[in-house]
Amino acid sequence: MKLMLKAYAKVNLALDVLRRRPDGYHDVKMIMQNIDLYDVLTFSVADEDINNYREKKKENDNSKKCKAEITLNSNKSNIPLDENNLICKAVRLMYEEYGIEADMDIYLEKNIPVEAGMAGGSTDCAAAIKAVNEIFGLKLSEKEMMEIGVKLGADVPFCIMARTALSEGIGEKLSDVKKLPKCHVLVAKPPISVSTGMVYKNLKCDELKKHPDVDGMIEALSNEDLNKTATCMENVLETVTVKLYPKIEELKNIMKEQGALNAIMSGSGPTVFGLFTSEETANEAKKYIADKGLSNEVYVVKPV
Ligand code: ATP
Repeated sequence: MKLMLKAYAKVNLALDVLRRRPDGYHDVKMIMQNIDLYDVLTFSVADEDINNYREKKKENDNSKKCKAEITLNSNKSNIPLDENNLICKAVRLMYEEYGIEADMDIYLEKNIPVEAGMAGGSTDCAAAIKAVNEIFGLKLSEKEMMEIGVKLGADVPFCIMARTALSEGIGEKLSDVKKLPKCHVLVAKPPISVSTGMVYKNLKCDELKKHPDVDGMIEALSNEDLNKTATCMENVLETVTVKLYPKIEELKNIMKEQGALNAIMSGSGPTVFGLFTSEETANEAKKYIADKGLSNEVYVVKPV
């Protein structure tokens, strides 16, 4: 059996960090929006192995090490393709949880920029959890898959849900929010790689002078008010990443000068995104940014 799944990237329309928790994680309050930029994952498993599993009763032996071979290939070489890849980790975890032993071949067409603040790894991880659920007929609910996903990353539950959401707690408390109204999103990743862990480690939660109006944004979204939504866009992680890489601020300003309603950094960065009402204006801004050499990973996409 071959199963092909799309794994969408996200941007944070608003990102607030409320506190650092004793366990090292941070409590956040953010609005997550999927965009039409996605990786394509193809999962292949022998039908015989699937049937064997379906016939056999689930073995509830969590201590069992799964011996199945999971192989991953990709069009990109700037990510690990071994057991360190979140896709392999997710398949392995699902296999161990549900007593599955079936070799799996996975091909990852990587289109989402890496270490970009767009949840590239988390969304692939979520797709792998969904794939194992579907291939082996586990019939897990979205909630059950989210509970498994959060063990592998704070953004994974959102990627399983894959609808516009308010994300709280460490990212595991999710509530539905109305999707971003029709617009064009210009996404540009400057040629810098940023580690999410490093950004959170350097964030001084107690010294933040401004916080985004997340509740105001939820109201604006529910009123389908694009202008007001754009006004509420803010990301407190810019206090760390922009200080280290002033080019990010430059990119934000250029997007605004080129006609964006507003532009901010996504996640821990360095990707910057701007909202445009006109597709033509967004494409002109894309060309301007590419021509100036500010980014070679620049896209105009729609909210999903
Ligand atoms: P987030 O927005 O969730 O912080 P990010 O976009 O900043 O994520 P990723 O692209 O997810 O960052 O990559 C972070 C690291 O995760 C990479 O350096 C890579 O080594 C590792 N990684 C593991 N699996 C994957 C995957 N499937 N795709 C991309 N990176 C992966």
